[in-house]
Amino acid sequence: MQPDVLIIGSGMGGATLAAALAPSGLRVMILERGERLADSPEARDPDAIFRRGHFRPPEMWHDGQGRAFNPGNYAFVGGNTKFYGAVLLRYRAQDFAPLRHIGGVTPGWPIGYDALEPWYGRAEQLYRVRGDGAGDPTEPARSTPYPFPPVPDEPDIAALRRAFTAQGLHASALPLGLDLDRWLARAPTTWDAFPDTTGAKSDAESCGLAVALQHPNVTLLTGTKVVRLLAQGRRVTGAEIDRAGVREVMTAPVVCLCAGAVLSAALLLASANDDHPAGLANASDQVGRNFMNHNLTGMVAWNPVRRNRTVYEKTIQINDFYLTGGPDGEPLGNIQMLGRITGPILAGEAGLPLWLARHVADHSIHIMAMSEDLPDPDSRVIWRNGGVVLDWRRTNTAAHELLVRRLGRAMRRAGWPIVLSRGFPKSKPSHQCGTARMGMDPAASVVNADLKAHDLDNLYIVDASVLPTSAAVNPSLTVAALALRAGDHIARTMA
Ligand SMILES: Cc1cc2nc3c(=O)[nH]c(=O)nc-3n(C[C@H](O)[C@H](O)[C@H](O)COP(=O)(O)OP(=O)(O)OC[C@H]3O[C@@H](n4cnc5c(N)ncnc54)[C@H](O)[C@@H]3O)c2cc1C
Repeated sequence: MQPDVLIIGSGMGGATLAAALAPSGLRVMILERGERLADSPEARDPDAIFRRGHFRPPEMWHDGQGRAFNPGNYAFVGGNTKFYGAVLLRYRAQDFAPLRHIGGVTPGWPIGYDALEPWYGRAEQLYRVRGDGAGDPTEPARSTPYPFPPVPDEPDIAALRRAFTAQGLHASALPLGLDLDRWLARAPTTWDAFPDTTGAKSDAESCGLAVALQHPNVTLLTGTKVVRLLAQGRRVTGAEIDRAGVREVMTAPVVCLCAGAVLSAALLLASANDDHPAGLANASDQVGRNFMNHNLTGMVAWNPVRRNRTVYEKTIQINDFYLTGGPDGEPLGNIQMLGRITGPILAGEAGLPLWLARHVADHSIHIMAMSEDLPDPDSRVIWRNGGVVLDWRRTNTAAHELLVRRLGRAMRRAGWPIVLSRGFPKSKPSHQCGTARMGMDPAASVVNADLKAHDLDNLYIVDASVLPTSAAVNPSLTVAALALRAGDHIARTMA
């Protein structure tokens, strides 16, 4: 099949874009470097996942100091969403305008919340989001209700919710893409970083891609890695692919790059040629810059004489400090439950002996503080000697430290007196975004508000790289909403 549209990557951006394009009848071909993730004993084995890194690709990147590391960046059909927590939150309306943070002022978006709102609603339908927004002081206006009611709290989380309320905090339902019965039917294990092999997570494969592939005009080629984009003048003329060591070139009138924030930027930079010496779509010198990834701290709030019997813990969030809380009223961020830490996970992550890790995990609550990372042109992805350099410069850390302190205090008051906290390491860029940002000014951004590259007439970038700001909410629903909006634009342009 000679495609009309090539999509590179089948993660949140690529799969959702395919779902948006499928009804148009355009011939869509998705090129994915990974294979489908099959079920296996390791899929629910915390030791395999957290200690042995069983599902991690053997890929090595370098940090800004030249140290090699193996990133938690997955390579299966569905991309990182196969392992994600499936928290599917909208950016808050205020996130689209410039906001003053402790660490600086965010740039604002080329579109407002209103322009994305209908697409958020469709993304929530496609990804079967459960939630209700009640009691969340930052919940933005919506034209459509959540498709499904929230996941109910288990008793120990209901008690925590009451304890937060008694402190004057507003604990609200965490919006989730989850079929809990289906998840637990496979095994009563926890959630975050566990791969979805049964369709119980609303991930890019089980939702976006499944819908797209119902259409005969959409095909998926797995095990197909794009190694370079070819371009002449203002057009991408092909994608050079590697399939099991065999190189060939695929062509299509429109090419959509959806390889994720780090690898999309890397591919554009690796594709430099005589017409585009700094890399494709990079006349502005913005490709790879403004890398962001959230400041994240996981917390284990321990009470040696109190048990936490919860299996599925991830049901509440707090946004009281989302827009305020700093010394001059600056935003601090979002608080949300983790997907339940168990003994083997704690042993793997913190290096504790298993007996102690089990005791701590069963007598503690597990929660996370998330603060916005601001765009910094020196925080960047570089393509060097045929490999990825990720020089992430964290920003806005003072706001994050304040949020962590506030959360620690709230947990102690809630009856969990010993609070152990740990920042997420730089080697796991799970909320990576911002390396090909959208904007109106071609001198200061990479794509326009339709996600078309400023410098190329037939290249779209549709993944987390286009986010101009990271906000302080999980990125996937915003990536999906943008992909649906871009798909509508592409289908109309090609009709
Ligand atoms: C453990 C974990 C937990 C997370 N929890 C949440 C959460 O609860 N909520 C949330 O919103 N987000 C969460 N995230 C983040 C979320 O997964 C990402 O924001 C989202 O997947 C980004 O979508 P994307 O399209 O940019 O990239 P991805 O979904 O990663 O997709 C990129 C795809 O491109 C493919 N690819 C890359 N290079 C090439 C190439 N050269 N050729 C062909 N294919 C290629 C990859 O294999 C992959 O399939 C989590 C991530 C992790 C790792």
